[in-house]
Amino acid sequence: MVRVRLRVDPIKCKAHGMCGELFPERIRMDDWGYPVIESRPLPDDLLEHALRAVADCPRAALRLDPIDEPGARVRPDDAD
Ligand code: SF4
Repeated sequence: MVRVRLRVDPIKCKAHGMCGELFPERIRMDDWGYPVIESRPLPDDLLEHALRAVADCPRAALRLDPIDEPGARVRPDDAD
């Protein structure tokens, strides 16, 4: 299993704020309505909420990126 982290494209994002409501576990909104995303890898139990936020962003500004670092591959039972 490859770990992933949530990213935002700051050019595409237009501060709708929806993602902060859909995925408050890792996204908070700044004073201007733009998302501030925690950069830690996502544990399996948060993937469903993360995928929902990615799918529902009206600007397609969110994505899940694989973490391309040594040791990023984890066993299925190695959740955060
Ligand atoms: S839902 Fe999409 S466009 Fe809206 S603030 Fe979040 S990332 Fe930006």
